[in-house]
Amino acid sequence: MALTGVQIFKLLPKTNCKECGVPTCLAFAMNLAAGKAELSQCPHVSEESKAQLSAASAPPIRTVEFGPPGPLAARAGGETVLFRHEKTFYNRTVLAVRIRDDEPAAEADGKLSRFKELRYVRVGLQLGADALALACASGNPGTFEALVKKASAATDAPVILMSDRPDAIKAALAHLKGKRPLVYAADAGNVDAMGAIAKEHGCPLAVRADGLEGVAALTEKLAGMGLHDLVIDPGSRTPRRVLEDQVAIRRLSIQKQLRPLGYPTIGLPCEMTDDPVKEAMLASLMIPKYAGIVVLGDIAGHTLFPLLLQRLNIYTDPQRPMKTDEGLYEFSSPGAESPVLVTSNFSLTYFIVSGEIENSRHPAFLLVLDTEGLSVLTSWAAGKFSGDRVAALVKKSGLDGKLQRKELVLPGAVASILGEVEEEISKGWKVHVGPREASAIPAYLKQTFA
Ligand code: SF4
Repeated sequence: MALTGVQIFKLLPKTNCKECGVPTCLAFAMNLAAGKAELSQCPHVSEESKAQLSAASAPPIRTVEFGPPGPLAARAGGETVLFRHEKTFYNRTVLAVRIRDDEPAAEADGKLSRFKELRYVRVGLQLGADALALACASGNPGTFEALVKKASAATDAPVILMSDRPDAIKAALAHLKGKRPLVYAADAGNVDAMGAIAKEHGCPLAVRADGLEGVAALTEKLAGMGLHDLVIDPGSRTPRRVLEDQVAIRRLSIQKQLRPLGYPTIGLPCEMTDDPVKEAMLASLMIPKYAGIVVLGDIAGHTLFPLLLQRLNIYTDPQRPMKTDEGLYEFSSPGAESPVLVTSNFSLTYFIVSGEIENSRHPAFLLVLDTEGLSVLTSWAAGKFSGDRVAALVKKSGLDGKLQRKELVLPGAVASILGEVEEEISKGWKVHVGPREASAIPAYLKQTFA
C-alpha cells in the first residue's frame, strides 16, 4: 500500500535544506506521495528510509519492459494520472502485429515486411509498430517454433509469445535467448506452469481472466511466486466492456492504489473483428483509454498511420510544447546569394517548413526563432515573434558577414511585422513577406530567387 505524505515526511531528514528543489521536507513528501517528485531528488535520505519509501515512489501502475534491452525494448505502464492534462502519459501504447502460425507462409512474410517497412518520420521522430505478437493458433508447438525462428531471424523487434500451452511457450523461448519476450498468457488453468516458465526465463507474463476479480486473483498469486513484471487482460472483447474495464483498472490502480491491478493492460482488437478498419477504430479506442499494449491482426499504411499520430498526440507532454532548437539551418548547400527564411521553433512548424524547403531543392538558410514552442501566429499574438527579436536573431546568426545578397523572408502570417523588422535589422537587408502556407514555399522560392 502506498504511503501518505505525512508517513513519507516521517522518513525524510527534516532539515529543509531545499536541495530537492522545494522549500521544505514536508512539501517534498507531499509531492512524492502525489507522484510529482522522484525520491532520488533528495540526496540525504537514508538507505533504510529509501527501502521503506520505494513503495511510495513507485508509480501506481508498474512499468513493464519486454524485448531486447536497449533502444528497441518495448515499455508499457508506469502511468501516474487518469487524465493526460493532469501531468502527462509516459509510456506510449505498444502497437504489436499478430502473426499466427497457421497462416500461409506468404501471409506471414507479408506481415513481417509491412512491420519492417511501414515506418514514418514525423516531427523528427521515427514512428512505426513496435512489436510482433506470434500466436500458436495451430496447437502444434513445432509449427509455432518454426514461426518464432523465422520472425527472430527477420527482426530484433520485441516479441509477444501467444499460447495457452506451456510446452509451446517453452519450445519458443529456446529461440529467443536474451530477447526477453512477453509471454501471453497465464490463466486459471495454467498459472502455475506459466509462472514457473516466466520465472525460469526472466520474462514478463500476461495474465488473462474474465473480469477484474479473476485478473487480480492471478496477479496476487504470481506476485506471491516472486513475479512482478505482469500485464493484464481482463478478457474484454466488446467495445463497451473494453472501455469499462480499462477505465476501472486505471481508476482502481491510481485512485485506490489497488496493487493487484497496478499493471499495464493488453488489448486485442485482433480478436474482436476481421475488418481492418473496425480493428483500427477499436485500437483508437484503446490508445487513449488506457491500453499499455494493443495487438493488431495486420497493418496497412491507411490504418497504421492515423493510429501512430493519435498515439503521438496522446503521449506528448501537454505542458511542454514540442520544439526545435533556435538557430540557423542550411538546405541544399546555400551560399552567399541564398535567401534566408524565418520561422518559429514549434516542432510541427519547423518540420513542415524545412520539409518544403528541402523539397524545393533551392539552396536556402532557415532561421528558427525560439518562440517557446509556439506556432508563428500564436507566438506573434504572444509578442514572441516580433520585429526586434527577428532582427536580433539575424544579427546573432552571423549571416551579415557571410552573405552578399541579404534577403530575409518572413512567414506570410506575420506580414504585419515587416516595417518593424526593416527598422530593426542592420543595413543592407531586403525583407520580403513569404507565403502564408508552407506548401507554397517551393513555388515562391523558384519565382522570387531563381
Ligand atoms: Fe528535505 Fe531532502 Fe528536500 Fe533537503 S533535499 S529539503 S532533506 S527532502
